[in-house]
Amino acid sequence: MDPDTPNPIEYEAPVILDRGRHRISRRDIDPDCLKVLYRLNAQGYTAFLVGGAVRDLLLGRKPADFDVSTNAHPNQIKKLFRNAFLIGRRFRLAHIRFQGGKIIEVSTFRRKPDEEELAAERAEEAARAAEAAATAEGGRAEAVRRAEEDGSEDRTDSALEGQSPEEEPMSGAGVTAGPDLSDTPDDLAAEPLPESAEPAAASGAGRRRGRPPLKPIAYGTPREDAFRRDLTINALFYDIATYSVIDYVGGLDDLEAGRVRIIGDPDTSYVEDPVRIWRVLRHASRLGFTIEERTAEAIARHGHLLQACPGSRLYEELNKDMKSGNVGPFFQAARRYGLLPRFLGEVGELYQASDEAFEKVVFLLGALDASIRGGGSPPAEVAYGLLLWPWAEPQLTGIEGDKPKALYDAFRSAKAAATVPKSLLLEAVHTLAIVEHMLQSLADGKMRWALKIRPRYPEASRIASLLFAGTFGDCDDPFSVIYRNRFGTRPRTQPHKHRRRKKPVVPPPPPE
Ligand code: ATP
Ligand code: MG
Repeated sequence: MDPDTPNPIEYEAPVILDRGRHRISRRDIDPDCLKVLYRLNAQGYTAFLVGGAVRDLLLGRKPADFDVSTNAHPNQIKKLFRNAFLIGRRFRLAHIRFQGGKIIEVSTFRRKPDEEELAAERAEEAARAAEAAATAEGGRAEAVRRAEEDGSEDRTDSALEGQSPEEEPMSGAGVTAGPDLSDTPDDLAAEPLPESAEPAAASGAGRRRGRPPLKPIAYGTPREDAFRRDLTINALFYDIATYSVIDYVGGLDDLEAGRVRIIGDPDTSYVEDPVRIWRVLRHASRLGFTIEERTAEAIARHGHLLQACPGSRLYEELNKDMKSGNVGPFFQAARRYGLLPRFLGEVGELYQASDEAFEKVVFLLGALDASIRGGGSPPAEVAYGLLLWPWAEPQLTGIEGDKPKALYDAFRSAKAAATVPKSLLLEAVHTLAIVEHMLQSLADGKMRWALKIRPRYPEASRIASLLFAGTFGDCDDPFSVIYRNRFGTRPRTQPHKHRRRKKPVVPPPPPE
């Protein structure tokens, strides 16, 4: 296709790549997702693998998750899978849960929402993000409390985020016999979880009491479903009935050309949902794709809209990138479009304005990315500590007294539109206060070794190593190693200026 083809691209009929003319093999599709696709298909429904999974499989990459779309309605999906839970109040999606916390999301084909539906959809997304953040925050706050009590961190939660509300009831849940799968091969039987695993909040049932009935949902055709999506490369379908790839929007051409393009008119699309701007930059920087001209130009006109998005949703997007192994390139793209202040407030303003601060943060985030790509899962306080360090460092040196608290307050007054949860921020600023002390010690040779028993010492040790030696180090306490190499094997402690006199154990004899 000519790269100058104007938007919107509306093909009369889809481009269909038959099996054998594309590289998607069922071996590369998650086996539980295959079970879901096969069962829907066996019951006479259309069942497509959709979204990022098709894009990634066509590029030979490993998908982050597998989503399914079908013409079966949510209640029909629920009837087919005992392990399906309907989420969302109005735009109901089925989450089919499998062991190990895996979720296959199944949605019914939808058409482009009208304005009223769009507002409801955005509100629902924000509520979902807030709920997920609150659950993660609850788990994190509890871990912090336990760590404070025990004097040691709970290392079991090393991922950047707590469990999602849907995952929690999975722990220890037994697996019962599946529904009758007589029309599905045995090895494709989806493994159900007990009905009792459904969290009340996720079902959406019972919430309507006393409220006006909702407008019926506008389900759509596969074609309409493709056109309601964000990017052409994200709107490709893989049909389990024919093993073919179906393209209504020109996504195959854009994949081939290494190009990110908004479906339809970019101005309309960004106004409908400004988070799509973030997604354009994410996918372009992750895949090393160019951004189609109109898609790119419209960012300057609508970037400011990001600021008005719900903070929980922006935090969710930021967190996705922080965990992706690609946050450095994403930050570079965001800076090129002047977007850092739009979600990081004054912290972003500093990174936008100062080359020096930005180079530093890109170096630190690059180290985070390398660690994640190497299979590590740095704790969230390390990730956010690195993100904040170039902004925090000059402040920390100037603060007298309670440095973590002052830094916490400074971040809150920096007015970041992305809502970083309180307990995560507290952990990050405590870690950074220890880091600052460590760097001072490396400069003057004076170290308060009592810091070693602080819960966040190990994380601080790694960050200090990265800042001082350029690597996270390959032992548990790289800071100590650096300190010892610099100042000798015995750490020099700060001299006690006012030694308390010990009380004599034996009272002196009474005067004669
Ligand atoms: P990733 O690899 O990060 O999971 P993804 O494209 O699969 O990338 P998801 O957030 O999993 O992203 O979304 C799944 C699909 O839902 C997308 O591929 C896209 O088709 C659609 N989608 C997601 N967000 C939006 C949005 N804001 N507007 C329109 N469609 C969206
Ligand atoms: Mg995805």
